[in-house]
Amino acid sequence: MSSCVCAKCKKPWEMSSSPAICPVCNQVSFAIAIPEVSAAVKNHYQDPEYRAKISAAVKKRFQDPEYQAKVKAAAKKRWQDPGYRAKQNAAMKKRGQDPEYRAKRSVVAKKCWQDPEYRAKMKAAHSKGHD
Ligand SMILES: [Zn+2]
Repeated sequence: MSSCVCAKCKKPWEMSSSPAICPVCNQVSFAIAIPEVSAAVKNHYQDPEYRAKISAAVKKRFQDPEYQAKVKAAAKKRWQDPGYRAKQNAAMKKRGQDPEYRAKRSVVAKKCWQDPEYRAKMKAAHSKGHD
């Protein structure tokens, strides 16, 4: 699957002919074919406004108690499946034995713990869980 974008401004080429004057950048340009998914994602993710919108939407979603309950219930259900559990445990074990993964994890963890905000958050989450 592919779609077309303007060769100059890389916005979706929605005209039937090529070359033509692109309505977005107003330049004589032509259509270039690009793989649909990556192009759409790339264009979107290069747009800071779109990125802000998405992250706000994701944040909002995760703050929704109903959504949280749904995700939790789904996870719980999945973990009740012995096949899934065995698979996850095996994958985790395998990953834990990978020295590269372990090194990466410890670097990330160290970095996180150097962030006072992250530390405070983890502490709060931890004590909350033990109520
Ligand atoms: Zn253009």
